[in-house]
Amino acid sequence: MAADRKIAVLGDIHANLDALQAVLADAKAYGATEYLCVGDVVGYNACPNECCEIVRSLGAPTVCGNHDRYSAFGESLEEFSPLAAVMVKWTRETLSAENAEWLRSLPFTEVVPGGITLVHATLDDPEAWGYVFDDLDAETSISYQKTQICFHGHTHVPVAFEMHHGRVSRLAPGTFRLEAGRKYFLNTGSVGQPRDGDPRASYCLYSPGERRVEYRRLEYDVPAAQRRIDLAGLPPRLADRLGEGR
Ligand code: ZN
Repeated sequence: MAADRKIAVLGDIHANLDALQAVLADAKAYGATEYLCVGDVVGYNACPNECCEIVRSLGAPTVCGNHDRYSAFGESLEEFSPLAAVMVKWTRETLSAENAEWLRSLPFTEVVPGGITLVHATLDDPEAWGYVFDDLDAETSISYQKTQICFHGHTHVPVAFEMHHGRVSRLAPGTFRLEAGRKYFLNTGSVGQPRDGDPRASYCLYSPGERRVEYRRLEYDVPAAQRRIDLAGLPPRLADRLGEGR
């Protein structure tokens, strides 16, 4: 029943198994009945196959992120930073054929039952991987949004944009109720590599029956994720930034 739906919305998991497990345990404790994913399941951390397999096993509708795309297709990496490019190459070599095929099958946008839109970056041009940092970027994307609520990711910064009478404003990424006549463009923040200076994993819980959104932040075993990066021989900077939330 719609009234009982409790949806955990995960994004930018980035192959961080320790963060993903902590988030799923928290979502389960909150009684999550379904899962959605706004993309970038892989990249930056050492467990791309494990994370793909978990998201697939949850049956979570998932949209394609830039790391998913570039890791699963042999496209040129010119637009990536050197650090991201190293990771995409490593992920390409590490992904199983089955997980790479799953990543290639992901759509850029999806509307799931109950009128929830998912996109990794922006709705105006989902394949251009633009970043929504300010109200103006949000306004452009929301003008293409056909449902009341849209979850996205990509910046790794949790933020909630609300459009009311054509004007965009921000809500604190805490707990709030959706109001009729308004649209919401919500960045879940990153499960596996937060960049807002807070190293805790970030995700959203959405209860359509109560029209309620809750942003969650969670401690997880950062040293365990850092050890995995080290053991895989990946750049130490990737481990350091997990501890900094950058
Ligand atoms: Zn990302």
